[in-house]
Amino acid sequence: MGLKFDRVHNYNAGPAAVPLEVLERVNEQWFNYHGAGMNVMEMSHRSKEFDKIHNDTIAKVRQLLNIGEDYHVLFLQGGASTQFGMIPMNFLGEGDTADYINTGTWSTKAIKEAKLFGDVNVAFDGNDVDFMKLPSQDELKLTDGARYVHITSNNTIKGTQFRQFPDTNGVPLVCDMSSDIMSHPLDMKPFGMIYAGAQKNLGPSGVTLVVMRDDFAKGANEGLTTMLKYQTHIDKNSLFNTPPTFAIYLMGEVLQWVIDNGGLEGMAARNQKKADMLYGFFNDHPDYFKCPVAEDSRSWMNVCFRLPNEDLEGKMIAEATRNGFIGMKGHRSVGGLRISMYNAAPPESIEAVIAFMKDFMTHNG
Ligand SMILES: *Cc1c(COP(=O)(O)O)cnc(C)c1O
Repeated sequence: MGLKFDRVHNYNAGPAAVPLEVLERVNEQWFNYHGAGMNVMEMSHRSKEFDKIHNDTIAKVRQLLNIGEDYHVLFLQGGASTQFGMIPMNFLGEGDTADYINTGTWSTKAIKEAKLFGDVNVAFDGNDVDFMKLPSQDELKLTDGARYVHITSNNTIKGTQFRQFPDTNGVPLVCDMSSDIMSHPLDMKPFGMIYAGAQKNLGPSGVTLVVMRDDFAKGANEGLTTMLKYQTHIDKNSLFNTPPTFAIYLMGEVLQWVIDNGGLEGMAARNQKKADMLYGFFNDHPDYFKCPVAEDSRSWMNVCFRLPNEDLEGKMIAEATRNGFIGMKGHRSVGGLRISMYNAAPPESIEAVIAFMKDFMTHNG
């Protein structure tokens, strides 16, 4: 294959590829991080070396999202899945309503948790279109005076993505950005909170990034258990207990790579280029490759497609794997194929898989 270190073309949906430059830098620092005489994972979370890593990572989040001190940047554990419950636990109560936009598997899970704490209005139910199309503004049935509107920016499993967000008439948006955070420029103004498990676009699993506006945080419920209260982590700068130190360090290195590669504008250009190549290839061969997702809803991050029959799909996945193209099987709930190409996936990897698929089509027509 000729890739450095015999690496593969990695299209895993998550955990997913990390930029090679980041892995190389971490490798250089492995035994002795900047003269500390130890690996970052061996450091006290109260040491001055780790304190700098921690605060530098926060600063990079602030820089990339262009936010000031009115937003808190938190590093939590338990994955995005814990946020599904923590959000309504903190912000919903008797008589409160939250609007949820249901655009797939992850939104559905978030709705299930919210119903434990308050009234949930499903403002759009994508089940009716098999989640293959995102709602337009006039399809949303929003509640006056809702506590927040929950939305999933990128639907990892079905392959849809909001790149523009609905107008909620001043009600704060709360957004699960696990699979497209930092993939394009973002105006943070409408968001009371965004959150993302790190393992798709920010590095390794084990840390969840939460960014929360101060006025939104102030409205949280009282009387909650310490670790599941956002205010605990706000008050202690995510150092109430031992944070996932190594994952925070790696996130910082990944964010530095984003900054070095043109920031969020740079990522958007890179991601759009990859998406144009791949969807363009499928559009050129519509009899062989079918993208079930509506054109205006297609994700730049997770590209789902089908072949003429399931036998060919199985054959392509097996041949791809043998040739060093890893992770192309669609999620078990939808079948077909999926190429996940987060920020880290180089455009050359998309060119390579297109060449492979073209060859496969020629031999399996
Ligand atoms: C992967 C994913 C999750 C689940 O994240 P965990 O960190 O495993 O809990 C939630 N939402 C979206 C959009 C995802 O892609």
